[in-house]
Amino acid sequence: MNASAITGLRARRVWDSRGNPTVEVEVKTASGVSGRAIAPAGASRGTREALDLRDGGTGLQGMDVRRAVANVNDHIAPLLKDMDANDQAAVDAALIALDGTPLKSKLGGNAMVATSLAVLHAAAAAKAVPLWRHVADLTDETPTLPLPEIQIFGGGAHAGRRVDVQDFMVMVPGAASFDEVLEVTSEIYRAAGSLMKAKGHSVGVADEGGWWPVFDSNEQALETLVRAIEAAGETPGERVVISLDIAASEFGSKGRYRLALEERELDRDQIIDLLGRWIKDYPIASIEDPLAEDDIEGMTAFTREFGGKVQIIGDDYLVTNADLVAAAEKAGACNAVLIKVNQAGTVSESLACLAAAKAHNYRTIVSARSGETEDVSICHLAVGLNAGQLKVGSFTRSERMAKWNECLRIGDELGGAAFVAGKPLANTWWARQSEGYSK
Ligand code: PEP
Ligand code: MG
Repeated sequence: MNASAITGLRARRVWDSRGNPTVEVEVKTASGVSGRAIAPAGASRGTREALDLRDGGTGLQGMDVRRAVANVNDHIAPLLKDMDANDQAAVDAALIALDGTPLKSKLGGNAMVATSLAVLHAAAAAKAVPLWRHVADLTDETPTLPLPEIQIFGGGAHAGRRVDVQDFMVMVPGAASFDEVLEVTSEIYRAAGSLMKAKGHSVGVADEGGWWPVFDSNEQALETLVRAIEAAGETPGERVVISLDIAASEFGSKGRYRLALEERELDRDQIIDLLGRWIKDYPIASIEDPLAEDDIEGMTAFTREFGGKVQIIGDDYLVTNADLVAAAEKAGACNAVLIKVNQAGTVSESLACLAAAKAHNYRTIVSARSGETEDVSICHLAVGLNAGQLKVGSFTRSERMAKWNECLRIGDELGGAAFVAGKPLANTWWARQSEGYSK
């Protein structure tokens, strides 16, 4: 029997960083080794992403995953028995056919993604290679260590909507190594906490471990971030730049945007103007979901105006879907796509999205979800896919730090030359360094 043949597969219920239940799958192979993966869970979800199947009802606030776990044990396990874990495409095609629904609502995206990733791990283990190497083999990419985006303040759905913008992040494209990115970010994270304490705020953290946003406006958060970068001894816009996830689908639809904190409603043109002002005033190199997922007109207009200045990432708008990336390129919307494996539901569909992004010249950012665990599969995907960038939340809490630390380990295996530094932001950050910012 083939060493990577699947001999056993089972799911169990485990728990994520929000204390919610989630699905873990373990796959055994003929060679005796196994692979394991856990499904993450989002809070600000796109309407077109694979369904996170929950039991409903009153127990565990309706969040239990017993049906998804049973779907793996009762339906997926017999289907995949004796299949070759090394043939990820065939495994994922079988999962997709068994589910048969557009949003994976029958088996559950959580059941499917945990299975698909566990098979990926099992295949790597059967080959006795690290996961990143197996992923690189699947795609013929050159493994590289990604440039991180790291959250300093949380917001939006991750912080009780205390501010409208969901992620205030930093990137360190001017760093010479992955380790240097983390060191600089650690200083900025701490400086931001000290600034908030100095203002008399008690400091808590949001869902992804970024500081809880005690601000009177979205802009005050940006101001504080700039001050924190300075307090860490950096000149904003030089080695360090700002990245925002507006997550606009959370407060906008049909071309109207309600900024709850500032108690005002903006139309499409007004929010584009507001974000344009931020781009001019602050060293912002990347903006995710600047408009809502249903606002293609806005996304196109924003990209036309600012696509040469900043990276514009589609998350809720593109939901890790190859066809949506192709359609966005046709419409002239966004120039980058977030890759969340659980939005697609399988590894193969995520690889297809990545291939579409590369074909259409879109940058790629592998991303965690706000509900995470100790699972570090996405680090290996980011490296093996040569994605360029990685977003896993803040610089605190173990479900986040596990990912940054795993990248350090992979970096040691790869050697220092594998860090991509500023390359992913070429034509944006490099070109804008000389602009000078007013704030
Ligand atoms: C995001 O919007 O990019 C994100 C990580 O949040 P969530 O997982 O809640 O969708
Ligand atoms: Mg997002």
